Amino acid sequence: MTARLIDGKAIADAMRAGLAAQVAALGFQPGLAVLLVGDDPASAVYVRAKDRAATAAGIAAQTLRLPAATSEADVLAEIARLNADPAVDGILVQLPLPQQIDPTVVQEAMDPAKDVDGFHPLNVGRLAAGRECLAPCTPLGVMRLLRDSGTVLDGARALVLGRSVSVGRPLVAMLLAANATVTVAHSHTRELPAECRRAEVLIVAAGQPELVRGDWVRPGATVIDVGVNRLPSGVLVGDVAFDECAAVAGAMTPVPGGVGPMTIACLLSNTVSAAVMRRA
Ligand code: NAD
Repeated sequence: MTARLIDGKAIADAMRAGLAAQVAALGFQPGLAVLLVGDDPASAVYVRAKDRAATAAGIAAQTLRLPAATSEADVLAEIARLNADPAVDGILVQLPLPQQIDPTVVQEAMDPAKDVDGFHPLNVGRLAAGRECLAPCTPLGVMRLLRDSGTVLDGARALVLGRSVSVGRPLVAMLLAANATVTVAHSHTRELPAECRRAEVLIVAAGQPELVRGDWVRPGATVIDVGVNRLPSGVLVGDVAFDECAAVAGAMTPVPGGVGPMTIACLLSNTVSAAVMRRA
């Protein structure tokens, strides 16, 4: 391996310690409400991790669990109650929602000032326009990894592989704001390996185990692997073939221990920002 490892766990730990100190100095306790509808086991794990991390940072965290058969109207009533609760600074609705509930309707019902996932159209639009906003946590985590690893973005050729609303698209706006020259690749892109090879900064969020091979990577490039895929064997792998690509890249994130820990750290950061902005 020649690539320098970008240690997301260490960067996230430092960020969480900094946030805990910031919260302790605020003079009030920010509040985060996490809404979990149904009993998806993976969602339950994520929600527990978010609750624990928020509590450790000094945030007043509450998890609201609703049964899988809850109607969309009842979820909207819960959102309206949380919007009106002055002790709640951040609201997060854990996805996926049961099929009778339209996630976009729920996201649009949220007070944009409490939208710590950054999915409300007002925040999406503000991000696209390069204005201050609450932005999605995973792309924020990627940007922080790039910054802390000393990756130069100004004028750099960056390629985002994946165009999802929660990861790929917001990353495009963030990279543009950092003055990168941005290409977006997706499942209809022709000559994908050649496109990837042009990138000095390659960010992969495709949800395809080990899609990106060693010969797709430009020598010396920074590679950020957002993917989390569990193989039938139970092993967790990213969207990037780690050993092959680490032999070519200049710096690279591992899976696990790369982007994953940053997502929760950025959720806490968004909650603190929302609390401060609401009181400004
Ligand atoms: P998604 O399925 O919504 O989007 C995937 C994107 O990749 C799509 O735009 C699609 O066009 C593109 N794509 C898929 N297969 C492709 C292929 N063969 N060639 C080119 N493009 C292809 O996924 P998502 O929600 O953005 O998540 C992507 C990955 O990131 C998943 O593995 C997910 O688990 C992971 N993820 C991790 C975190 C974290 O905190 N670590 C957070 C969110 C998502």
